[in-house]
Amino acid sequence: QKIPKDARSPAQAGRSGLQKYGQLANKARSLISIRTALPIWTHQTEIQRHLQEKDILLLVGETGSGKSTQVPQFLVNESWCRPQKVRIKTKGNTENVTVGGCIAITEPRRVAAISLARRVATEMGTPLGSASPASQVGYSVRFDNSTSPNTRIKFLTEGMLLQEMLRDPWLRQYSAVIVDEVHERGVNVDLVAGFVRNMVAGNKEGRGGIPLKVVIMSATADMNRLKDFYEDGFPSNTTKSSDSDPAVNRTYEESDREGDEDGYESPWSGLSSDNEDASAGGQLGEAPGGSTYSAGHVATCFIEGRQYPVVAIYTPEPVRDFVDASLRTIFQIHYGEPMPGDILVFLTGQDDIEALEKLIEEYAAGMGSEVPMHVQQRVFQPSPHPNMRKVILATNIAETSVTVSGVRYVVDCGKAKIKQFRTRLGLDSLLVKPISKSSALQRRGRAGRESTGKCYHLYTESEYSKLEPSSTPEILRCDVTHAVLTMKARGVDDIMSFPFLDSPPRESLEKALLQLFSLGALTESGSISHLGRQMAKLPLTPALARVLLTAAAPETDCLLEVIDIISCLSVENVFINLVNEDKKEEADVARKELLRREGDHLTLLNTVQKYSSENTDRRKWAEQHFVSHRAMQAVMDVRKQLLAQCHHQKLIPPPSELNTPSNTSPERATVILKCFLTAFANNTARLFPDGSYKTVIGNQTVAIHPASGLFGRKLEAIMYHEYVFTNRSYARGVSAVQMDWIEEALAR
Ligand code: ADP
Repeated sequence: QKIPKDARSPAQAGRSGLQKYGQLANKARSLISIRTALPIWTHQTEIQRHLQEKDILLLVGETGSGKSTQVPQFLVNESWCRPQKVRIKTKGNTENVTVGGCIAITEPRRVAAISLARRVATEMGTPLGSASPASQVGYSVRFDNSTSPNTRIKFLTEGMLLQEMLRDPWLRQYSAVIVDEVHERGVNVDLVAGFVRNMVAGNKEGRGGIPLKVVIMSATADMNRLKDFYEDGFPSNTTKSSDSDPAVNRTYEESDREGDEDGYESPWSGLSSDNEDASAGGQLGEAPGGSTYSAGHVATCFIEGRQYPVVAIYTPEPVRDFVDASLRTIFQIHYGEPMPGDILVFLTGQDDIEALEKLIEEYAAGMGSEVPMHVQQRVFQPSPHPNMRKVILATNIAETSVTVSGVRYVVDCGKAKIKQFRTRLGLDSLLVKPISKSSALQRRGRAGRESTGKCYHLYTESEYSKLEPSSTPEILRCDVTHAVLTMKARGVDDIMSFPFLDSPPRESLEKALLQLFSLGALTESGSISHLGRQMAKLPLTPALARVLLTAAAPETDCLLEVIDIISCLSVENVFINLVNEDKKEEADVARKELLRREGDHLTLLNTVQKYSSENTDRRKWAEQHFVSHRAMQAVMDVRKQLLAQCHHQKLIPPPSELNTPSNTSPERATVILKCFLTAFANNTARLFPDGSYKTVIGNQTVAIHPASGLFGRKLEAIMYHEYVFTNRSYARGVSAVQMDWIEEALAR
């Protein structure tokens, strides 16, 4: 690979630009030796050759072997990766279109997409994203897009790639799509995996015949299954010529233009469910692209891992409080282990991370130690002193997708928050559940990346032996409403014929169709409605998208308020959890000021209104009101993006011309809550004479979460944003509603 070059030559860059250019290039040069030492480096030519010969490559290699950072760089200068001008027939005329030139890499999480983009930009010696038009590496995640006209390598979350497919169903922008971390098996990666299977194996008219190269990357996946899955996508009849193929003579109707949605045609529509026959081993498939294939369309490549031995330590007795046990273990390692090395702790979510962070600070303050400030990106910096240890508190995000160097000790709480569909309630809830054996091994493996290590599992060996071998793919255990809307909006008419890596149960697909119908996203015949298309364009769950669109209607006209509330709901924990009892009273007083009697939705709105009002010193205000400034910054970001998106969909004037309301009357509060009920009527519970709440659908007991402003209140009925189950069932994000509002919403 060549030494990185800036897109502009130093001569064009000007004096300060020249300096910057030099710094970037120097930094990139200094990383070459690290890169060439990665296990993947020796496979560079092999990977390039595979993709010269075939359109699809499966690549398996352990975390840290260099897949995510190096593979895009191996491919970006290949000749097939250049943009190509092609002529494509659209309705009646022929159009010149550019296809390819850019590589997409999908990641399951925003943090990974952003940090990988930053790393690859540094390695290539190019500025990142929108920072400069010369930047060749960018990222696109929900509510944050940082790319330039020269972007050649783009890291995106899976959801964003699916979103791009609405505008560009043939992914014409890209020469290759790299699907990273397939083993995680979230719903979106399964959808991406299915869509790209169709694109490599199906017809390529919409791309003017230019193939899309696909790399499927995984740290642990069962390679044979993936190989079969992709081979089966290709028709088994290999000797078709393009002249006799009806698919090729069909004129591709360009239809992704605004306002021409009814004639929507996607790559999907080109492929019939003959596919299924092929996968059953039949000979029925037609070669849609008309190419002649030799046996085997899928190349494979294994990267050997680099792993030092790790000693696994289990507890002698089951652990009851893993936060407390983690605290003890951290200090036991710090004082007891002779070897230097940082500590990576696996917890379940923001709540226990923040709780443990506070405990560590308090404990360390008592010991007279200094604890550095908590900053997310700081995990990548080395510990400043040999007698110091960095402690990284993480969720399962650090299992495979983020590499943190310097770690020699791992503390594994054995649990993770897992989204699960609860059939009786008809909705997803986050449950804290034991992890799988495969996750436990991944966590343990993190201790042995750079030297021998130790892993403290906070459970007994016998508990370990009872763990499930691997985690169930999300699509089998979660609500698939969003997935089904995603497919419908991309032209998949017959959901049942979509190539799922694992097909969700028929009932759950049917339930999703029903739910989408009740949200107005589908017509009675099951095709997508105008409202459904609008919903699919919004980076929100179908339910929240529906609420937003209801709020935009002239008769309700409360879109700005609803955007503020939705922005808060998409950020975890706006209010700071107090571990310290002394401050509780002060916090209660401060928070009372923000509370609205209508409930948490209006309290959140109130908080945004006060925080964002012109004369507020935001940081100070947040501190005084025990509101997380960091979370509120994220809220403001989401809000900005949603406003821009709504403007783009012509729902509101440009954000600069908006007068954001600063005080919401009780009458308007009712209108707002009724908007939420158009999509959340299923998330309601009524009060029973014994003082408990039971869900209106399913009759399950549910309690108002202690973090809710309505905690302890007895109200006729409540509507809640989510349902969590820890030691009991809790409703979170709760507002007071009336039974007749619920009935009205359910009757619609
Ligand atoms: P894989 O995809 O196989 O897990 P990566 O390409 O993500 O491997 O990482 C390879 C190496 O690159 C890591 O071991 C680490 O040294 C380095 N690296 C990756 N991301 C970053 C980052 N954001 N900051 C610093 N180093 C990084």
